[in-house]
Amino acid sequence: MKKYFFSLLISFLLTGLLPVSVSAQESRTKPIKTTPKLIVGIVADQMRYDYLTRFWEHYGDGGFKRMVSEGFNCKNNHYNYAPTTTGPGHASIYTGTTPSVHGVIGNNWYDKESGQVVYCASDERYTSVGTSAGTGKMSPHWMTVSTVTDELRLFTQKRGKVIALALKDRGAVLPGGHMANAAYWYNGGLDGDWISSSYYMDELPKWVRDFNASDAVEKYKKTWNTLKNINVYLESGPDNNPYEGAFSGESAPVFPHDLPKLWESNGQFDLLRNTAYGNSMTTDFALAALEGEDLGKDAIPDFLAISYSSTDYVGHQFGVNSKEIQDTYLRLDEDLARLLKQLDQKVGKGEYLVFLSSDHGAVDVPAYLKDQKLPAGYMDSQSMSAKFREFMSYTFGDAKLIRNYSNAQFFLDHDVIRSLDMELEDVQYKIAQELLGYEGISRVFTGHQMETNEYSRGVPYIIQNGYNQKRSGDVLLVLDPAVVYYSRTGSTHGSPYIYDTHVPLLFFGKGIPQGSTTERTEIPDIAPTISALLGMSFPNGTTGTPIEAVLD
Ligand SMILES: [Zn+2]
Repeated sequence: MKKYFFSLLISFLLTGLLPVSVSAQESRTKPIKTTPKLIVGIVADQMRYDYLTRFWEHYGDGGFKRMVSEGFNCKNNHYNYAPTTTGPGHASIYTGTTPSVHGVIGNNWYDKESGQVVYCASDERYTSVGTSAGTGKMSPHWMTVSTVTDELRLFTQKRGKVIALALKDRGAVLPGGHMANAAYWYNGGLDGDWISSSYYMDELPKWVRDFNASDAVEKYKKTWNTLKNINVYLESGPDNNPYEGAFSGESAPVFPHDLPKLWESNGQFDLLRNTAYGNSMTTDFALAALEGEDLGKDAIPDFLAISYSSTDYVGHQFGVNSKEIQDTYLRLDEDLARLLKQLDQKVGKGEYLVFLSSDHGAVDVPAYLKDQKLPAGYMDSQSMSAKFREFMSYTFGDAKLIRNYSNAQFFLDHDVIRSLDMELEDVQYKIAQELLGYEGISRVFTGHQMETNEYSRGVPYIIQNGYNQKRSGDVLLVLDPAVVYYSRTGSTHGSPYIYDTHVPLLFFGKGIPQGSTTERTEIPDIAPTISALLGMSFPNGTTGTPIEAVLD
Protein backbone atom coordinates (compact mmCIF):
# COMPACT_ATOMS: atom_id res chain seq x y z
CA MET A 1 0.00 0.00 0.00
CA LYS A 2 2.78 2.33 1.01
CA LYS A 3 4.75 1.43 -2.10
CA TYR A 4 1.70 1.94 -4.31
CA PHE A 5 1.11 5.33 -2.77
CA PHE A 6 4.76 6.24 -3.35
CA SER A 7 4.67 5.30 -7.02
CA LEU A 8 1.40 7.19 -7.36
CA LEU A 9 3.13 10.20 -5.86
CA ILE A 10 6.05 9.86 -8.26
CA SER A 11 3.81 9.56 -11.29
CA PHE A 12 1.79 12.50 -10.04
CA LEU A 13 4.95 14.54 -9.72
CA LEU A 14 6.14 13.44 -13.15
CA THR A 15 2.86 14.21 -14.87
CA GLY A 16 2.92 17.51 -13.08
CA LEU A 17 6.48 18.21 -14.09
CA LEU A 18 6.77 16.82 -17.59
CA PRO A 19 4.36 19.12 -19.40
CA VAL A 20 6.03 22.08 -17.72
CA SER A 21 9.50 21.17 -18.91
CA VAL A 22 8.22 20.39 -22.40
CA SER A 23 6.32 23.64 -22.67
CA ALA A 24 9.27 25.54 -21.26
CA GLN A 25 11.40 24.11 -24.03
CA GLU A 26 8.72 24.95 -26.57
CA SER A 27 8.46 28.51 -25.43
CA ARG A 28 12.23 28.89 -25.74
CA THR A 29 12.08 27.95 -29.39
CA LYS A 30 8.75 29.61 -30.14
CA PRO A 31 9.82 33.25 -30.53
CA ILE A 32 12.05 32.38 -33.47
CA LYS A 33 9.39 30.30 -35.20
CA THR A 34 6.31 32.33 -34.56
CA THR A 35 7.18 35.96 -33.93
CA PRO A 36 4.62 37.99 -35.87
CA LYS A 37 5.74 40.88 -38.02
CA LEU A 38 3.05 43.07 -36.58
CA ILE A 39 0.85 43.04 -33.50
CA VAL A 40 -2.44 44.88 -33.82
CA GLY A 41 -4.17 45.73 -30.55
CA ILE A 42 -7.81 46.67 -31.01
CA VAL A 43 -9.96 48.19 -28.27
CA ALA A 44 -13.63 48.79 -29.04
CA ASP A 45 -14.67 51.40 -26.49
CA GLN A 46 -17.68 50.33 -24.36
CA MET A 47 -18.08 46.98 -26.14
CA ARG A 48 -20.12 44.58 -24.01
CA TYR A 49 -19.46 40.87 -24.53
CA ASP A 50 -23.02 40.31 -25.74
CA TYR A 51 -22.55 42.62 -28.74
CA LEU A 52 -20.57 39.74 -30.19
CA THR A 53 -23.43 37.26 -29.72
CA ARG A 54 -26.49 39.53 -29.97
CA PHE A 55 -25.63 40.84 -33.46
CA TRP A 56 -23.83 37.65 -34.58
CA GLU A 57 -26.30 36.73 -37.35
CA HIS A 58 -25.75 40.10 -39.01
CA TYR A 59 -21.97 40.02 -39.07
CA GLY A 60 -20.14 39.24 -42.30
CA ASP A 61 -17.47 36.55 -42.68
CA GLY A 62 -14.45 38.85 -42.65
CA GLY A 63 -14.68 40.70 -39.31
CA PHE A 64 -15.76 39.43 -35.88
CA LYS A 65 -16.76 36.04 -37.32
CA ARG A 66 -13.37 35.55 -38.93
CA MET A 67 -11.57 36.37 -35.69
CA VAL A 68 -13.77 33.97 -33.72
CA SER A 69 -13.80 31.09 -36.23
CA GLU A 70 -10.07 31.17 -36.96
CA GLY A 71 -8.84 32.55 -33.65
CA PHE A 72 -9.36 32.16 -29.91
CA ASN A 73 -12.38 33.49 -28.02
CA CYS A 74 -12.13 34.12 -24.25
CA LYS A 75 -15.84 34.19 -23.51
CA ASN A 76 -15.67 34.91 -19.81
CA ASN A 77 -13.28 37.85 -19.80
CA HIS A 78 -13.64 40.56 -17.17
CA TYR A 79 -12.41 43.76 -15.72
CA ASN A 80 -11.23 42.99 -12.20
CA TYR A 81 -11.36 46.51 -10.82
CA ALA A 82 -13.59 49.57 -10.66
CA PRO A 83 -14.01 52.33 -11.79
CA THR A 84 -14.55 50.73 -15.20
CA THR A 85 -13.82 53.76 -17.38
CA THR A 86 -11.81 54.54 -20.50
CA GLY A 87 -8.47 55.76 -19.12
CA PRO A 88 -8.04 52.95 -16.57
CA GLY A 89 -9.30 50.42 -19.15
CA HIS A 90 -6.73 51.27 -21.81
CA ALA A 91 -3.96 51.49 -19.21
CA SER A 92 -4.87 48.09 -17.76
CA ILE A 93 -5.02 46.29 -21.11
CA TYR A 94 -1.57 47.53 -22.02
CA THR A 95 0.18 47.38 -18.62
CA GLY A 96 -1.15 43.98 -17.51
CA THR A 97 -2.23 45.36 -14.16
CA THR A 98 -4.88 47.46 -12.42
CA PRO A 99 -5.19 51.08 -11.21
CA SER A 100 -3.84 49.96 -7.81
CA VAL A 101 -0.48 49.54 -9.56
CA HIS A 102 -0.50 51.61 -12.78
CA GLY A 103 -1.95 54.69 -11.10
CA VAL A 104 -4.58 55.65 -13.70
CA ILE A 105 -7.48 55.63 -11.23
CA GLY A 106 -10.02 57.41 -13.44
CA ASN A 107 -10.38 59.52 -16.55
CA ASN A 108 -10.10 62.49 -14.21
CA TRP A 109 -9.32 62.45 -10.52
CA TYR A 110 -8.54 64.71 -7.63
CA ASP A 111 -4.78 64.92 -7.23
CA LYS A 112 -4.06 64.98 -3.50
CA GLU A 113 -0.65 66.59 -3.97
CA SER A 114 -1.68 69.61 -6.05
CA GLY A 115 -5.28 69.85 -4.90
CA GLN A 116 -6.31 69.96 -8.57
CA VAL A 117 -8.48 67.68 -10.67
CA VAL A 118 -6.19 66.09 -13.25
CA TYR A 119 -6.92 64.35 -16.55
CA CYS A 120 -5.31 60.95 -17.19
CA ALA A 121 -3.52 61.92 -20.42
CA SER A 122 -2.92 65.65 -20.09
CA ASP A 123 0.54 67.12 -19.65
CA GLU A 124 1.01 70.88 -19.73
CA ARG A 125 4.75 70.49 -20.27
CA TYR A 126 4.11 69.63 -23.92
CA THR A 127 2.53 71.48 -26.85
CA SER A 128 0.06 70.46 -29.52
CA VAL A 129 1.35 69.21 -32.84
CA GLY A 130 -0.90 69.71 -35.86
CA THR A 131 -3.27 72.22 -34.27
CA SER A 132 -3.15 75.59 -32.53
CA ALA A 133 -5.72 74.32 -30.01
CA GLY A 134 -4.61 72.93 -26.63
CA THR A 135 -5.95 69.45 -27.42
CA GLY A 136 -2.51 68.05 -28.15
CA LYS A 137 -0.89 68.72 -24.75
CA MET A 138 -0.73 65.06 -23.78
CA SER A 139 1.64 62.40 -22.49
CA PRO A 140 1.37 59.09 -20.61
CA HIS A 141 3.13 60.47 -17.50
CA TRP A 142 0.31 59.60 -15.07
CA MET A 143 0.79 55.90 -15.90
CA THR A 144 3.56 54.83 -13.53
CA VAL A 145 4.57 51.48 -15.09
CA SER A 146 5.64 50.18 -18.50
CA THR A 147 3.27 48.88 -21.18
CA VAL A 148 3.56 45.85 -23.46
CA THR A 149 4.31 48.38 -26.20
CA ASP A 150 7.19 49.80 -24.10
CA GLU A 151 8.53 46.28 -23.58
CA LEU A 152 8.48 45.72 -27.34
CA ARG A 153 10.52 48.89 -27.83
CA LEU A 154 13.05 47.77 -25.18
CA PHE A 155 13.17 44.19 -26.45
CA THR A 156 13.85 45.21 -30.07
CA GLN A 157 16.42 47.91 -29.24
CA LYS A 158 13.78 50.36 -30.50
CA ARG A 159 13.84 48.78 -33.95
CA GLY A 160 10.24 47.64 -33.57
CA LYS A 161 7.88 50.58 -34.13
CA VAL A 162 4.90 51.45 -31.94
CA ILE A 163 2.09 53.57 -33.39
CA ALA A 164 -1.12 54.21 -31.42
CA LEU A 165 -4.28 55.97 -32.62
CA ALA A 166 -7.85 56.70 -31.58
CA LEU A 167 -10.39 59.48 -31.80
CA LYS A 168 -9.93 59.93 -28.03
CA ASP A 169 -6.48 61.12 -26.95
CA ARG A 170 -6.42 58.76 -23.92
CA GLY A 171 -7.33 55.84 -26.22
CA ALA A 172 -4.05 56.46 -28.06
CA VAL A 173 -1.69 57.92 -25.46
CA LEU A 174 -2.02 55.16 -22.84
CA PRO A 175 -1.78 52.15 -25.25
CA GLY A 176 1.25 53.73 -26.95
CA GLY A 177 3.10 53.73 -23.63
CA HIS A 178 6.09 55.88 -22.75
CA MET A 179 8.26 54.94 -25.70
CA ALA A 180 5.78 55.06 -28.61
CA ASN A 181 7.11 56.38 -31.91
CA ALA A 182 3.82 58.24 -32.18
CA ALA A 183 0.31 58.50 -30.82
CA TYR A 184 -2.39 60.30 -32.81
CA TRP A 185 -5.89 61.43 -31.95
CA TYR A 186 -8.69 63.44 -33.47
CA ASN A 187 -9.29 67.14 -33.20
CA GLY A 188 -12.91 67.91 -34.15
CA GLY A 189 -14.46 71.37 -34.20
CA LEU A 190 -13.69 73.27 -37.37
CA ASP A 191 -10.64 71.12 -38.21
CA GLY A 192 -11.41 67.40 -38.36
CA ASP A 193 -7.67 66.65 -38.23
CA TRP A 194 -5.50 63.94 -36.69
CA ILE A 195 -3.05 65.52 -34.28
CA SER A 196 -0.32 64.64 -31.75
CA SER A 197 1.81 66.03 -28.93
CA SER A 198 5.36 67.40 -28.77
CA TYR A 199 5.98 64.50 -26.37
CA TYR A 200 6.35 62.37 -29.54
CA MET A 201 7.44 64.71 -32.32
CA ASP A 202 8.01 68.30 -33.42
CA GLU A 203 5.79 68.10 -36.47
CA LEU A 204 3.38 65.67 -38.09
CA PRO A 205 4.98 63.30 -40.62
CA LYS A 206 4.13 63.81 -44.28
CA TRP A 207 1.66 60.92 -44.43
CA VAL A 208 -0.42 62.48 -41.62
CA ARG A 209 -0.29 65.95 -43.18
CA ASP A 210 -1.37 64.43 -46.51
CA PHE A 211 -4.18 62.53 -44.80
CA ASN A 212 -5.39 65.72 -43.08
CA ALA A 213 -5.20 67.68 -46.34
CA SER A 214 -7.28 65.08 -48.19
CA ASP A 215 -11.05 64.71 -47.93
CA ALA A 216 -10.61 61.50 -45.86
CA VAL A 217 -12.58 62.92 -42.93
CA GLU A 218 -14.79 65.42 -44.80
CA LYS A 219 -16.33 62.65 -46.91
CA TYR A 220 -18.23 61.40 -43.82
CA LYS A 221 -20.19 64.64 -43.59
CA LYS A 222 -23.22 62.87 -45.04
CA THR A 223 -26.48 61.34 -43.86
CA TRP A 224 -26.14 58.44 -41.40
CA ASN A 225 -28.66 55.80 -42.34
CA THR A 226 -28.68 52.14 -41.35
CA LEU A 227 -26.32 49.80 -43.19
CA LYS A 228 -29.07 47.21 -43.73
CA ASN A 229 -32.81 47.74 -43.90
CA ILE A 230 -33.81 48.88 -40.41
CA ASN A 231 -36.64 46.32 -40.41
CA VAL A 232 -34.12 43.47 -40.08
CA TYR A 233 -32.60 45.02 -36.94
CA LEU A 234 -34.62 42.81 -34.62
CA GLU A 235 -31.91 42.67 -31.93
CA SER A 236 -32.48 46.20 -30.66
CA GLY A 237 -35.42 48.27 -29.40
CA PRO A 238 -37.70 50.52 -31.45
CA ASP A 239 -35.86 53.37 -33.19
CA ASN A 240 -37.94 56.06 -31.53
CA ASN A 241 -37.96 55.57 -27.74
CA PRO A 242 -37.61 57.74 -24.64
CA TYR A 243 -34.32 56.17 -23.53
CA GLU A 244 -32.19 57.79 -26.25
CA GLY A 245 -30.72 61.24 -26.63
CA ALA A 246 -31.35 63.00 -29.95
CA PHE A 247 -28.77 65.19 -31.64
CA SER A 248 -29.25 68.87 -30.95
CA GLY A 249 -31.71 70.12 -33.59
CA GLU A 250 -33.39 66.73 -34.11
CA SER A 251 -37.03 66.28 -33.13
CA ALA A 252 -36.54 62.55 -32.40
CA PRO A 253 -33.52 60.21 -32.07
CA VAL A 254 -34.31 58.31 -35.28
CA PHE A 255 -32.69 57.29 -38.55
CA PRO A 256 -31.79 58.78 -40.93
CA HIS A 257 -29.59 61.26 -39.05
CA ASP A 258 -29.00 64.20 -41.40
CA LEU A 259 -25.45 65.09 -40.39
CA PRO A 260 -24.92 68.04 -42.78
CA LYS A 261 -28.07 69.64 -41.36
CA LEU A 262 -27.00 68.88 -37.76
CA TRP A 263 -23.41 69.98 -38.36
CA GLU A 264 -23.35 73.48 -36.86
CA SER A 265 -25.48 72.73 -33.81
CA ASN A 266 -23.44 69.64 -32.84
CA GLY A 267 -19.84 70.87 -32.86
CA GLN A 268 -19.07 70.50 -36.60
CA PHE A 269 -16.41 67.79 -36.97
CA ASP A 270 -17.01 66.63 -33.40
CA LEU A 271 -20.45 65.42 -34.56
CA LEU A 272 -18.76 62.53 -36.37
CA ARG A 273 -17.52 61.10 -33.06
CA ASN A 274 -21.10 60.25 -32.10
CA THR A 275 -21.80 58.34 -35.30
CA ALA A 276 -20.70 54.97 -36.69
CA TYR A 277 -18.58 56.93 -39.16
CA GLY A 278 -16.09 57.80 -36.42
CA ASN A 279 -14.93 54.16 -36.48
CA SER A 280 -14.60 54.18 -40.28
CA MET A 281 -12.49 57.34 -40.03
CA THR A 282 -10.31 55.55 -37.47
CA THR A 283 -9.92 52.55 -39.79
CA ASP A 284 -9.00 54.82 -42.71
CA PHE A 285 -6.35 56.47 -40.56
CA ALA A 286 -5.04 53.12 -39.26
CA LEU A 287 -4.62 51.89 -42.85
CA ALA A 288 -2.80 55.12 -43.71
CA ALA A 289 -0.49 54.49 -40.72
CA LEU A 290 0.16 50.92 -41.87
CA GLU A 291 1.29 52.27 -45.22
CA GLY A 292 2.92 55.52 -44.08
CA GLU A 293 5.00 53.86 -41.33
CA ASP A 294 5.81 50.65 -43.27
CA LEU A 295 4.52 48.57 -40.36
CA GLY A 296 5.12 44.81 -40.41
CA LYS A 297 7.56 44.97 -43.29
CA ASP A 298 10.48 43.12 -41.68
CA ALA A 299 11.14 40.35 -39.15
CA ILE A 300 11.28 42.81 -36.22
CA PRO A 301 7.77 43.08 -34.82
CA ASP A 302 5.96 46.42 -34.90
CA PHE A 303 2.86 47.30 -32.88
CA LEU A 304 -0.22 49.14 -34.08
CA ALA A 305 -2.63 50.07 -31.28
CA ILE A 306 -6.09 51.06 -32.51
CA SER A 307 -8.94 52.16 -30.29
CA TYR A 308 -12.45 52.60 -31.68
CA SER A 309 -14.02 55.40 -29.65
CA SER A 310 -17.33 55.96 -31.47
CA THR A 311 -18.83 52.79 -30.03
CA ASP A 312 -18.63 54.59 -26.66
CA TYR A 313 -19.98 57.95 -27.82
CA VAL A 314 -22.94 56.25 -29.52
CA GLY A 315 -23.61 54.11 -26.44
CA HIS A 316 -23.60 57.15 -24.17
CA GLN A 317 -26.07 58.98 -26.40
CA PHE A 318 -28.41 56.22 -27.54
CA GLY A 319 -27.93 53.36 -25.06
CA VAL A 320 -27.02 49.70 -25.42
CA ASN A 321 -30.43 48.65 -26.76
CA SER A 322 -30.64 51.23 -29.56
CA LYS A 323 -30.82 50.78 -33.32
CA GLU A 324 -27.88 53.19 -33.44
CA ILE A 325 -25.73 50.80 -31.41
CA GLN A 326 -26.71 47.85 -33.58
CA ASP A 327 -25.83 49.80 -36.71
CA THR A 328 -22.54 50.97 -35.19
CA TYR A 329 -21.47 47.37 -34.53
CA LEU A 330 -22.54 46.14 -37.97
CA ARG A 331 -20.48 48.90 -39.49
CA LEU A 332 -17.55 48.25 -37.12
CA ASP A 333 -17.66 44.63 -38.31
CA GLU A 334 -17.21 45.87 -41.89
CA ASP A 335 -14.35 48.11 -40.79
CA LEU A 336 -12.64 45.16 -39.09
CA ALA A 337 -13.03 43.06 -42.24
CA ARG A 338 -11.48 45.88 -44.26
CA LEU A 339 -8.61 46.16 -41.76
CA LEU A 340 -7.89 42.39 -41.74
CA LYS A 341 -7.99 42.25 -45.55
CA GLN A 342 -5.43 45.02 -45.80
CA LEU A 343 -3.26 43.32 -43.19
CA ASP A 344 -3.42 40.11 -45.29
CA GLN A 345 -2.22 42.05 -48.31
CA LYS A 346 0.34 44.35 -46.71
CA VAL A 347 1.80 42.16 -43.97
CA GLY A 348 0.74 38.72 -45.19
CA LYS A 349 -1.88 36.21 -44.15
CA GLY A 350 -0.79 34.51 -40.93
CA GLU A 351 2.11 36.90 -40.44
CA TYR A 352 0.44 39.22 -37.94
CA LEU A 353 -1.22 38.86 -34.55
CA VAL A 354 -4.39 40.66 -33.48
CA PHE A 355 -6.14 40.95 -30.15
CA LEU A 356 -9.49 42.64 -29.65
CA SER A 357 -11.03 43.70 -26.37
CA SER A 358 -12.81 46.63 -24.77
CA ASP A 359 -12.05 49.19 -22.06
CA HIS A 360 -15.34 48.56 -20.16
CA GLY A 361 -18.92 47.46 -20.79
CA ALA A 362 -22.10 49.46 -20.19
CA VAL A 363 -25.42 49.28 -18.38
CA ASP A 364 -28.77 49.07 -20.12
CA VAL A 365 -30.48 52.46 -19.78
CA PRO A 366 -31.78 52.29 -16.16
CA ALA A 367 -35.04 54.06 -17.12
CA TYR A 368 -35.68 51.28 -19.65
CA LEU A 369 -34.86 48.55 -17.11
CA LYS A 370 -37.21 50.18 -14.59
CA ASP A 371 -39.99 50.16 -17.17
CA GLN A 372 -39.36 46.42 -17.62
CA LYS A 373 -39.84 45.97 -13.84
CA LEU A 374 -36.14 45.42 -13.18
CA PRO A 375 -34.44 47.02 -10.19
CA ALA A 376 -32.62 50.10 -11.51
CA GLY A 377 -32.48 53.80 -10.94
CA TYR A 378 -30.73 57.13 -10.71
CA MET A 379 -28.96 58.71 -7.77
CA ASP A 380 -30.54 61.91 -6.60
CA SER A 381 -27.27 63.66 -5.89
CA GLN A 382 -28.87 66.91 -4.69
CA SER A 383 -30.89 65.42 -1.87
CA MET A 384 -28.02 63.08 -1.03
CA SER A 385 -25.51 65.90 -0.67
CA ALA A 386 -27.92 68.02 1.38
CA LYS A 387 -28.44 65.14 3.81
CA PHE A 388 -24.72 64.42 3.86
CA ARG A 389 -23.79 68.06 4.62
CA GLU A 390 -26.20 68.03 7.53
CA PHE A 391 -24.61 64.84 8.88
CA MET A 392 -21.12 66.29 8.55
CA SER A 393 -21.86 69.50 10.44
CA TYR A 394 -23.78 67.61 13.12
CA THR A 395 -20.94 65.10 13.60
CA PHE A 396 -17.82 67.16 12.99
CA GLY A 397 -18.95 70.75 13.50
CA ASP A 398 -17.63 73.48 11.23
CA ALA A 399 -14.45 71.63 10.25
CA LYS A 400 -14.07 71.36 6.48
CA LEU A 401 -13.12 67.71 6.18
CA ILE A 402 -14.10 66.94 2.57
CA ARG A 403 -11.64 68.06 -0.06
CA ASN A 404 -13.27 66.44 -3.07
CA TYR A 405 -15.82 63.89 -4.28
CA SER A 406 -15.09 62.15 -7.60
CA ASN A 407 -15.28 58.66 -9.12
CA ALA A 408 -17.55 57.64 -6.22
CA GLN A 409 -14.81 58.48 -3.69
CA PHE A 410 -14.57 61.06 -0.93
CA PHE A 411 -11.17 62.67 -0.39
CA LEU A 412 -10.71 63.90 3.17
CA ASP A 413 -8.47 66.66 4.40
CA HIS A 414 -5.86 64.75 6.39
CA ASP A 415 -4.21 67.93 7.68
CA VAL A 416 -7.42 69.24 9.20
CA ILE A 417 -8.18 65.83 10.71
CA ARG A 418 -4.72 65.71 12.27
CA SER A 419 -4.90 69.30 13.53
CA LEU A 420 -8.17 68.51 15.29
CA ASP A 421 -6.62 65.42 16.91
CA MET A 422 -9.09 63.12 15.20
CA GLU A 423 -8.21 59.64 13.99
CA LEU A 424 -8.44 59.32 10.19
CA GLU A 425 -9.68 55.75 10.55
CA ASP A 426 -12.55 56.92 12.81
CA VAL A 427 -13.61 59.71 10.48
CA GLN A 428 -13.57 57.34 7.49
CA TYR A 429 -15.63 54.80 9.41
CA LYS A 430 -18.26 57.30 10.60
CA ILE A 431 -18.74 58.69 7.10
CA ALA A 432 -18.95 55.17 5.66
CA GLN A 433 -21.61 54.13 8.17
CA GLU A 434 -23.68 57.22 7.39
CA LEU A 435 -23.52 56.76 3.61
CA LEU A 436 -24.44 53.09 3.82
CA GLY A 437 -27.87 54.18 4.98
CA TYR A 438 -28.57 56.17 1.81
CA GLU A 439 -30.84 54.89 -0.91
CA GLY A 440 -28.99 53.57 -3.95
CA ILE A 441 -25.74 52.88 -2.08
CA SER A 442 -25.07 49.17 -1.63
CA ARG A 443 -21.63 49.13 -0.02
CA VAL A 444 -19.10 51.54 1.37
CA PHE A 445 -15.41 50.82 1.91
CA THR A 446 -12.81 52.92 3.71
CA GLY A 447 -9.23 53.55 2.70
CA HIS A 448 -8.24 51.95 6.00
CA GLN A 449 -10.05 48.73 5.04
CA MET A 450 -8.38 48.76 1.63
CA GLU A 451 -4.95 49.10 3.20
CA THR A 452 -5.32 46.53 5.96
CA ASN A 453 -7.22 43.70 4.22
CA GLU A 454 -6.52 41.55 1.22
CA TYR A 455 -9.72 40.73 -0.63
CA SER A 456 -9.70 37.79 -2.99
CA ARG A 457 -13.17 37.70 -4.52
CA GLY A 458 -16.35 39.57 -5.31
CA VAL A 459 -16.95 43.30 -5.17
CA PRO A 460 -14.35 44.01 -2.43
CA TYR A 461 -11.63 42.41 -4.64
CA ILE A 462 -12.72 44.58 -7.57
CA ILE A 463 -12.73 47.76 -5.49
CA GLN A 464 -9.33 46.94 -4.02
CA ASN A 465 -7.78 46.45 -7.46
CA GLY A 466 -8.95 49.95 -8.31
CA TYR A 467 -7.62 51.40 -5.07
CA ASN A 468 -4.25 53.11 -5.30
CA GLN A 469 -2.70 53.93 -1.94
CA LYS A 470 -1.15 57.19 -3.09
CA ARG A 471 -3.96 58.45 -5.31
CA SER A 472 -7.33 57.06 -4.22
CA GLY A 473 -9.83 58.58 -1.82
CA ASP A 474 -10.73 57.84 1.80
CA VAL A 475 -14.29 56.58 1.47
CA LEU A 476 -15.34 54.52 -1.56
CA LEU A 477 -18.97 54.04 -2.57
CA VAL A 478 -20.54 51.22 -4.53
CA LEU A 479 -24.03 51.93 -5.85
CA ASP A 480 -26.75 49.32 -6.27
CA PRO A 481 -26.69 47.36 -9.54
CA ALA A 482 -28.09 49.42 -12.46
CA VAL A 483 -28.18 52.56 -10.30
CA VAL A 484 -26.16 55.39 -11.82
CA TYR A 485 -25.30 59.06 -11.70
CA TYR A 486 -26.32 59.88 -15.26
CA SER A 487 -28.92 61.41 -17.55
CA ARG A 488 -32.13 59.45 -18.14
CA THR A 489 -31.16 58.77 -21.73
CA GLY A 490 -28.18 56.76 -22.92
CA SER A 491 -25.92 54.21 -21.21
CA THR A 492 -23.05 54.70 -18.85
CA HIS A 493 -20.45 52.58 -17.01
CA GLY A 494 -17.93 52.65 -14.18
CA SER A 495 -19.34 50.09 -11.71
CA PRO A 496 -17.87 46.77 -10.48
CA TYR A 497 -20.90 44.88 -11.86
CA ILE A 498 -20.97 42.30 -14.65
CA TYR A 499 -22.50 44.60 -17.27
CA ASP A 500 -19.44 46.85 -16.90
CA THR A 501 -16.80 44.14 -16.42
CA HIS A 502 -17.71 41.50 -19.04
CA VAL A 503 -16.04 42.40 -22.33
CA PRO A 504 -14.83 40.43 -25.38
CA LEU A 505 -11.31 39.12 -25.69
CA LEU A 506 -10.32 37.66 -29.04
CA PHE A 507 -6.89 36.57 -30.26
CA PHE A 508 -6.29 35.97 -33.94
CA GLY A 509 -3.38 35.30 -36.26
CA LYS A 510 0.20 34.13 -35.93
CA GLY A 511 0.78 31.66 -33.11
CA ILE A 512 -2.88 31.58 -32.04
CA PRO A 513 -4.72 28.25 -31.86
CA GLN A 514 -8.36 28.00 -32.89
CA GLY A 515 -10.63 27.61 -29.90
CA SER A 516 -12.50 29.18 -27.05
CA THR A 517 -12.73 29.04 -23.29
CA THR A 518 -15.38 29.84 -20.72
CA GLU A 519 -12.82 29.86 -17.93
CA ARG A 520 -12.53 33.29 -16.38
CA THR A 521 -9.79 35.50 -17.79
CA GLU A 522 -9.08 39.03 -16.63
CA ILE A 523 -8.01 42.14 -18.50
CA PRO A 524 -4.51 42.23 -16.94
CA ASP A 525 -3.88 38.81 -18.52
CA ILE A 526 -3.75 40.32 -22.02
CA ALA A 527 -0.37 42.08 -21.83
CA PRO A 528 1.56 39.12 -20.33
CA THR A 529 -0.07 36.82 -22.92
CA ILE A 530 1.20 39.01 -25.75
CA SER A 531 4.61 39.26 -24.04
CA ALA A 532 4.77 35.47 -23.68
CA LEU A 533 3.83 34.98 -27.34
CA LEU A 534 6.72 37.24 -28.30
CA GLY A 535 9.12 35.79 -25.72
CA MET A 536 9.79 39.16 -24.16
CA SER A 537 9.58 40.65 -20.66
CA PHE A 538 6.20 41.35 -19.14
CA PRO A 539 5.38 45.01 -18.42
CA ASN A 540 7.05 45.91 -15.12
CA GLY A 541 3.89 46.20 -13.01
CA THR A 542 2.20 43.06 -14.37
CA THR A 543 -0.18 41.32 -11.99
CA GLY A 544 -2.08 39.30 -14.64
CA THR A 545 -1.10 35.83 -15.86
CA PRO A 546 -0.55 34.63 -19.43
CA ILE A 547 -3.61 32.78 -20.72
CA GLU A 548 -2.34 29.23 -21.17
CA ALA A 549 -4.98 28.12 -23.66
CA VAL A 550 -3.90 30.86 -26.06
CA LEU A 551 -0.24 29.85 -25.79
CA ASP A 552 -0.83 26.21 -26.78
ZN1 LIG B 1 -14.42 53.93 -22.69
